[in-house]
Amino acid sequence: MRRAAVIGAGLTGTVTALCLSDAGVHVDLYERNASPLLGASGVNEGKIHLGYVYAMDQSLKTAKTMLRGAACFRTILERWVGSAVFENHTSSSFSYAVPFSSMLDLDSIRAHFARVSMLSQNLGPHAMLARETEAREQSGRELECAFDPEHVAASFKTNEIAIDPWALRLALLSAVKDSKNITARYSTEISSIHEDGTGYLVAGKDAQGMVSESYNAVVNATWHQRLKLDATFGIKRSQDAIHRYKCGLRSTDPSVAKGLPSTTFIVGEYGDTVAYGDNAFVSWYPAGLISQEVGLSPAIDDILLSSTRRADLIESTLYNLQKLLPGASGSLSAKPESWEIVGGYISAWGKTGINHADSKLHDRYEVGVHSDGGYHSIDTGKFTLAPLFATEVASRILE
Ligand SMILES: Cc1cc2nc3c(=O)[nH]c(=O)nc-3n(C[C@H](O)[C@H](O)[C@H](O)COP(=O)(O)OP(=O)(O)OC[C@H]3O[C@@H](n4cnc5c(N)ncnc54)[C@H](O)[C@@H]3O)c2cc1C
Repeated sequence: MRRAAVIGAGLTGTVTALCLSDAGVHVDLYERNASPLLGASGVNEGKIHLGYVYAMDQSLKTAKTMLRGAACFRTILERWVGSAVFENHTSSSFSYAVPFSSMLDLDSIRAHFARVSMLSQNLGPHAMLARETEAREQSGRELECAFDPEHVAASFKTNEIAIDPWALRLALLSAVKDSKNITARYSTEISSIHEDGTGYLVAGKDAQGMVSESYNAVVNATWHQRLKLDATFGIKRSQDAIHRYKCGLRSTDPSVAKGLPSTTFIVGEYGDTVAYGDNAFVSWYPAGLISQEVGLSPAIDDILLSSTRRADLIESTLYNLQKLLPGASGSLSAKPESWEIVGGYISAWGKTGINHADSKLHDRYEVGVHSDGGYHSIDTGKFTLAPLFATEVASRILE
């Protein structure tokens, strides 16, 4: 009987486990939290990137990587979660606004949007796309209705959308529960992986004490802990990795979502607003960036904020977004109690923040599945890419 361990029940690990289980492989799904999808996959903005935001990567390698993920995101997940979550919990299409202080000039952004828009035309009928088929620059009148023209130089309406990650999480929880071959091993933290002659020994601890089991194949889908676990297997990192803990605000008040457009400000330390059905997400980068560190993994897994820090984060996020987006001030002036702070790690190659033009955070194409025999380590890169890489690792294991 073939047995596999999938470590980390984020979107990547969960979908990997579901793929393997459907193919008859017995999977132990390890997760340090008490429930799956509470890490980055449960708290992110849910944007299914087409690559517009990666305007600093003029090679288009990042956009092309994101487009691969967007092309199959829905088709892969629909197998387990059905279509309702895609019909009822996706966002309005994103507008991109370019402040005068943008790190990239407007002409380069225009050219990038035209190229990405063109590439997105070939994604196929089941891709995660808005009804609008292409990106277009908005008129001065449209810009003035939404944004402050004193701060915003131009805006583009795009064919990009987001999915509410929490709604997707709930749908996936049922799929994992119903799956025949997945054994959920939650509240279990894995600390090492070694070859043991016949297979791979996975060791860690749960509430009862030490755990240690052997498998034919192991998938490391632990995101911000990935490189640390790789190191226990003897895999050395080839470059620096940066781990940023980023928070945003979520609201489940339908009246907040109602008046909110889906918007991203580029390029630099700005923010986003997203409205998906009855829920909303907003973030302001300088307020929401709680920590940034370079190393194998961040020093702390779970970051707790003081009540003063929480109040400041909410106030500063809403204040700064309102300044740029006065057209949404109704939603953005909602009472602080309407908002819940959510946050998680974003891990990527490099060692400098997004305020550096040469930061590797401006490109995300060096991601994907790394295999060494039956040991597979997945750098998801973005939520957009998780189903793509999960199916890729599953087919490597099934080969
Ligand atoms: C605020 C924010 C906004 C974002 N917005 C977007 C967006 O709009 N679009 C987009 O494409 N991407 C976005 N991202 C990035 C995206 O969320 C991640 O790329 C993606 O969710 C990573 O998925 P994953 O399954 O690899 O990791 P995770 O979802 O973090 O899953 C990894 C799991 O492994 C578990 N784990 C870790 N170490 C161990 C261990 N030793 N033992 C057992 N379990 C362990 C963790 O608890 C976690 O549940 C955002 C991220 C953040 C934080």
